[in-house]
Amino acid sequence: MKRDKEETARRRQWVKRFMHSFADSRHWRNNTADIFSCSHSTIYSDIYILQVQEKYGNIRLYPTLAQRIYTKTRDKLTCQYCGIINPKNWALDHIICCLRGGVTEPYNMAFSCTSCNNKKGDFIWLPKNIQQLALENKEWAEKIEYLSRRESTKYIFPRIIK
Ligand SMILES: [Zn+2]
Repeated sequence: MKRDKEETARRRQWVKRFMHSFADSRHWRNNTADIFSCSHSTIYSDIYILQVQEKYGNIRLYPTLAQRIYTKTRDKLTCQYCGIINPKNWALDHIICCLRGGVTEPYNMAFSCTSCNNKKGDFIWLPKNIQQLALENKEWAEKIEYLSRRESTKYIFPRIIK
């Protein structure tokens, strides 16, 4: 476990050094993944985490255990984008992603299948639980509704934000 942490820190330091000049280069990402024998998506998430930290400082990216249990129960293990019930692979999605100022709070989270989560990327889609979210934070739900109206038709993946 400790070794994993050191390895992650080492990898992120490397990614940080080059992420601005090469963040767009698939070649660089593939090579970096090879050097550290990790997956391509690990490098993507490293870049993402570093970008968030750069913009907002050390904000919490992952929900706490209590938040995870609450969100899963509230959404009844149903993907809030495609409606599939109890999917095999799932994730707790930030409806407004961290890089765009989304917070790690249940009113900004939706239970989703991995497929929807990946397709969505950093766009904002209108989740099915929007009524429930409005009860928790009305202003935030209105923001989601407004932003999703402009974006829900777009589809780009994978996408790295500059
Ligand atoms: Zn789905």
